[in-house]
Amino acid sequence: MKILVINCGSSSIKYQFYSLGESRILAKGIVEKIGMKGSFLKHEKESGQKVLFEGEILDHKIGIEYILGVMSSVKHGCIGSLDEVNAVGHRVVHGGEEFSESVLITDEVIVALEKFSELAPLHNPPNLKGIYAVKSVIPDIPQVAVFDTAFHHTMPQHVFMYAIPYALYKKYGIRRYGFHGTSHKYVSNRACEILGVNPKEVKVITCHLGNGTSACAIKYGESVDTSMGFTPVEGLIMGTRSGDIDMGAVTYIMDKERIGTKSASILFNKHSGLLGITGISSDSREIRAAAFEKGDERCLLAIKMFDYRIKKYIGAYAAAMGGLDVLVFTGGIGENSDITRTGVCENLEFLGIEIDQQINEGLRGEERVISKEGSRVKVMVVPTNEELMIAIDTQHIVDNKK
Ligand code: ADP
Repeated sequence: MKILVINCGSSSIKYQFYSLGESRILAKGIVEKIGMKGSFLKHEKESGQKVLFEGEILDHKIGIEYILGVMSSVKHGCIGSLDEVNAVGHRVVHGGEEFSESVLITDEVIVALEKFSELAPLHNPPNLKGIYAVKSVIPDIPQVAVFDTAFHHTMPQHVFMYAIPYALYKKYGIRRYGFHGTSHKYVSNRACEILGVNPKEVKVITCHLGNGTSACAIKYGESVDTSMGFTPVEGLIMGTRSGDIDMGAVTYIMDKERIGTKSASILFNKHSGLLGITGISSDSREIRAAAFEKGDERCLLAIKMFDYRIKKYIGAYAAAMGGLDVLVFTGGIGENSDITRTGVCENLEFLGIEIDQQINEGLRGEERVISKEGSRVKVMVVPTNEELMIAIDTQHIVDNKK
């Protein structure tokens, strides 16, 4: 089955085109700067050859038309006609309380997704644009929504509730939803596969450390807690998001700086985290360079804060699950930064976490067990692959529909 996986942002569309039976990625690419000056499509063929198309891409529909046009073109294409695309899988950020797993997109599902746009105003509207665009260009194709929130549906109520008036939960759905679910699910399953253990028999903590960061406690194959909450701003320190902060400090800052909710949201989502602390960058590579090559104090501090917060969550989740068997690092930082992995795991020997530095040092983007032979907890690096997970889920749903 050939499946197009789409991840729509407000001004971008990322895509990967899979032939799942053959385990091939036939093409991938990205449309950027939609609706702006200088929009373009960067397309990569299976051979690795890259082509760049510049043009006026005014909206997501034109973006999708561009992608499908290139995919089926004689010169750069990988299919004879659009009939060869069997299904489209979309990354959808928020599935609310309704969707505990991926679904075939129907008119009713679209109504529900429109409703959840209120909960994820930055993410769901562009995801919906992608769905509408595909619907108008290739109307009869089955489309599947794969939610970032779905994997966390198994969290028990005492974990997902906030201690605020219960009426607000009922009225507005204020609770922890969690995000990055597709990634946490993929890397935890993959880790178990590599180790040859049954996910239903182990306690796993996954740390997705990219621009967005989150940790997840996965007990016997189910997410039982995760660090992102009602929105992705809660939890670990991120590139530009603050993560956990005393809400008293939030209202105090709003009072003192005389800012409203919109500005406060921008402050804690876009100007905080690593960028806020260092004042230099949200990119961990630049921060590391400034810290270790120039001795920049704030960059050194940011690195310590970043690692410490993750360590704290690992301790908390080990306690929540009553133990730990596998610890997984993923995301741009988790996959590539040996220093972060070391900083996080330092002094966690009491939990049974012992990294083998000979393996860890310099390890980048590779599936590997990085703990010592006798380490009670297996520590692993597993590169995430959300697109593949979306393709697999899409195939599964479309197959079951037949
Ligand atoms: P996103 O959440 O946007 O998908 P990524 O998972 O690509 O982001 O992660 C981006 C982060 O990964 C950045 O902070 C970047 O510095 C970091 N990163 C990427 N490659 C490396 C590397 N080789 N060494 C250290 N950090 C890296």
